[in-house]
Amino acid sequence: MDDYDVIVIGAGFSGLTAARDLREAGKRVLILEARDRIGGSTWYRQDAFGGVGLEMGGTWIVPQQTHVWGEVQRYGVPVVDSELPDRMTWSDHGKVLDTLLPVPPEQYGALEHAMRALVEAGTRLDPLRPLSEQGLDDLDVPIRQWAEDAGLTGNAKELLISWFCGCANASEETGSALDIIRWLSSMDNSLWGMVQASVLGYTFAGGTVSLAEAIRADGGPEIRFSSPVRKVTGESDGVVVDFDGGTARADRVLMTTPVGVWGDIEFSPPLSSSKRAISEENHAGQGQKVWALARNVDDDISGFGWGTSFDYVGAMHSTDDGVVLVCFAPEHDRVDAGDLADVQRAVREFAPDAEVIAAESHDWVHDEFNRGTWATFRAGQFAEYEVAVGEPEGRVHFGGSHTARRWRAFIDGAIESGKRAAAEILAAQSEEEQR
Ligand SMILES: Cc1cc2nc3c(=O)[nH]c(=O)nc-3n(C[C@H](O)[C@H](O)[C@H](O)COP(=O)(O)OP(=O)(O)OC[C@H]3O[C@@H](n4cnc5c(N)ncnc54)[C@H](O)[C@@H]3O)c2cc1C
Repeated sequence: MDDYDVIVIGAGFSGLTAARDLREAGKRVLILEARDRIGGSTWYRQDAFGGVGLEMGGTWIVPQQTHVWGEVQRYGVPVVDSELPDRMTWSDHGKVLDTLLPVPPEQYGALEHAMRALVEAGTRLDPLRPLSEQGLDDLDVPIRQWAEDAGLTGNAKELLISWFCGCANASEETGSALDIIRWLSSMDNSLWGMVQASVLGYTFAGGTVSLAEAIRADGGPEIRFSSPVRKVTGESDGVVVDFDGGTARADRVLMTTPVGVWGDIEFSPPLSSSKRAISEENHAGQGQKVWALARNVDDDISGFGWGTSFDYVGAMHSTDDGVVLVCFAPEHDRVDAGDLADVQRAVREFAPDAEVIAAESHDWVHDEFNRGTWATFRAGQFAEYEVAVGEPEGRVHFGGSHTARRWRAFIDGAIESGKRAAAEILAAQSEEEQR
C-alpha cells in the first residue's frame, strides 16, 4: 500500500494550498480528487457561448481578501477590475423601477434606517475571531427575521432581504443574517465594499483555474483524479484511505470536501456528533448561478430584484451575439436553467425586452461532490458548528472554506483554511517527532 506523510482529500483551493505548504516543508503528499479536474467549487469553462470564458462557480475577489490577493501577487496571476455600472436597475416583482433609489421618496427614511441598522450590526463583529464567541446570537437568525427585528419596512425591507439572499445564495427563511453581516464587517463596514465583494470585485483574466494551476504547479503534489474517497479509517499510528481505484495510507489526512459530502464517506471511528449533524442538515447555500446570453439588454445592466425569480442580474461582457448576463437565485428550483424560455422569463423581470439565446449553469446543489453552492450557514448553525467544523478528529484534520474566519465560504477562506490546516498538521507532526 502506498504510504505518505499526508493525504489531502479534495483539489479545490483549500487542498491545493495545503498540499503546496506541506510540500514546501518537505512532506510526501497525495491529493485524492473525485473529479477529473482541479478547482472544486470554482470551474472555468471556455467552451460555452462560442468561447466566452464562464466561471460556473467562484468568480470575484477583492483586495481585502488578503489570502487570495497575496497568492495572486505571489504568482503574478492577472486579474481584471469590474467596470462599474453607471446606474442600477431595481425590479419590484418584475416591475422595473426607473428611479435613482429603489424606493419612492416617502420611503427614503425607511431606506436610511435600513442602512443604519446594517452598519450598526456590522460594527458589533470582529470577523477575525469566531462569531459564535461574540454574543451575536440575536443576529444569527433567518434573513427575513433580522430585517423584521430591525424594524425595516416597505421596499427598503424587501431590497435588504433580496440583497442578503443574493449574498447568501440562500432563502430568506434559512440563511443566517449574521453570515451576511460578516461580509459587511469584513469590508470594514463599507456598504459599497459589500456590493463590490459580491459581484463588482476583480475577476481572473485567465479564469480561476489560472491561480489554482499556479498553486498546484508550485507544490507539485501527486494528484489522483477521478478517485472519490469512500472510507477513512483512523489507526493509532496513521490513517488508511479507501478510494475508487485503490487504498493508500498516511500519517495524517486533511479533509477539504464540503460539509454536505461528509455523510457519504464512511469514517471509522465515526465523526463527532456535531460534524455528523451539520453534514445531515447541510448549509443554506442551495441556490443557483445561471449565465444567459441575451439580445435587447443594456450592456451595463446591474439589477437587484425582490419578488422576482433571480435576485440579481448583471452584464459581464458583450459579444457579437449579445450581452453575457450573470444571474443568481436563492433557491435551486426558481429557474429551469435548461429551458431557455424559463431563463428568458426570469431575465425579463429585469429587462422586459430581453431575448435569451443561450444559457449555462452547473447544478452544484445536486452535484454529489458539492451538495450546495457556497457554504452560508443556516440560521442558528454558528453556535453549534462554527468551531466544530474545523476541529481535528484524531489524525484527521479539517480544512475547506467553511472552516475559515473572515472570508469563510469564499475562495479567500479556502486558501486561509488550507494554510491553517497545513500549519496545524506540521505542528502536530513535529510535536510527535520530538516525543
Ligand atoms: C456558484 C458559486 C459561486 C461562487 N462565487 C464566489 C465568488 O464570486 N467569490 C468567492 O470568493 N467565492 C465564491 N464561491 C465560493 C468558492 O468557490 C468556494 O468557497 C471555494 O472555492 C471552496 O474551496 P474549497 O477548496 O474549500 O472546497 P471545494 O472547492 O469544494 O473543493 C473540495 C474538493 O473536494 C472534492 N471532493 C468532494 N468529495 C470528495 C470525495 N469523496 N473524495 C475526493 N474528493 C472529493 C471536490 O470534487 C472538490 O474538488 C462560489 C461558489 C459557487 C458554487
